[in-house]
Amino acid sequence: MIEATVSSAPAAPLPSPRVMYRALTRRDSAYEGVFYAAVKTTGIFCRPTCRAKKPRAENVEFFPTASAALHDGYRPCRLCRPMDRVPAPPPVVARLLRAVEQDPAARLADKELAALGVDPSTARRRFRAYYGLTFQAYQRARRMGLALREVRAGRPVIDVQLDRGYESASGFRAAFLRLFGKPPRGARTDDCLLARRLDTPLGKMLALADRQGLRLLEFVDRRGLEREILGLRRRLKCAVVPGASATLDAVEAQLRRYFAGERREFDLPLAPVGSDFQQQVWAALRRIPPGQTRSYAEIATGVGRAGAQRAVGRANGSNMIAIVIPCHRVIGADGSLTGYGGGVWRKQRLLELERVNGGAGNR
Ligand SMILES: [Zn+2]
Repeated sequence: MIEATVSSAPAAPLPSPRVMYRALTRRDSAYEGVFYAAVKTTGIFCRPTCRAKKPRAENVEFFPTASAALHDGYRPCRLCRPMDRVPAPPPVVARLLRAVEQDPAARLADKELAALGVDPSTARRRFRAYYGLTFQAYQRARRMGLALREVRAGRPVIDVQLDRGYESASGFRAAFLRLFGKPPRGARTDDCLLARRLDTPLGKMLALADRQGLRLLEFVDRRGLEREILGLRRRLKCAVVPGASATLDAVEAQLRRYFAGERREFDLPLAPVGSDFQQQVWAALRRIPPGQTRSYAEIATGVGRAGAQRAVGRANGSNMIAIVIPCHRVIGADGSLTGYGGGVWRKQRLLELERVNGGAGNR
């Protein structure tokens, strides 16, 4: 939980793109830490002060944090090392970064680290101490970011990227195929899960839907998202492809209005995948009115399983349709927020949003 808070809590709002682009071309050190500049054509992100040749304005994308750039599929520049602080990272930390770039789609476990001559627990501790982000979270961000590049474009661009010599082309393809599966040949995507990335004030989200309805809606930096996607693919026997559908259009439109404070309830076809008990708990969650919260014990009683708080907690945590199935409205009996897959800071922001937009009689 702490890791998600450190890595993805949004920084202050960004200056205007024009101001940032000017700062970038002037290598203005006053903007150090204010924004990161990512170059669409190379897949690399930099500090404002990087001495590399500056990209054209239309090829730059700005991010408030390094984590946000990672989640968009960019890797840190080797010249300006935008992840690094002063003093420079310890050699073992630098080695971990290089090891990831050998195959950014893979997962480096303790065994592989040991094979590199690195003591895993020391290396992980030093990585986290230096970056304020666990090594695991860094790898996850690289893999997810690469896989999601395809989804961002909303069309198959793998080959385009390869043609352009995109820096991490191989990692990009491997990450996509590993997470989303091999798309079927031809245009038939009826049996696939269609994917769309959504921008929200609390960060990027991924939505997956098929003909039955919405299957998944999660923040892209949520821990366990890869496991959820692989589980869904196995259960539904399908691949994930970027695409368009009426359900995804509705998700996007309703989420926008929700965050704008113009909508409190969702009216979407939902098709959550889970056991009977999980389905009962998720249905109970949907009966909690916006602006209100319930305890785990209350939900347990509501589904006829008084005393089964733990089981309810697990079912709550395995909800894959964030916000719409409002697992964020379940809190501890003492009023504490307990946990949240997308980070407790998001749970808090969602509850605040619903309280502010709630009020008596404004439902
Ligand atoms: Zn750079």
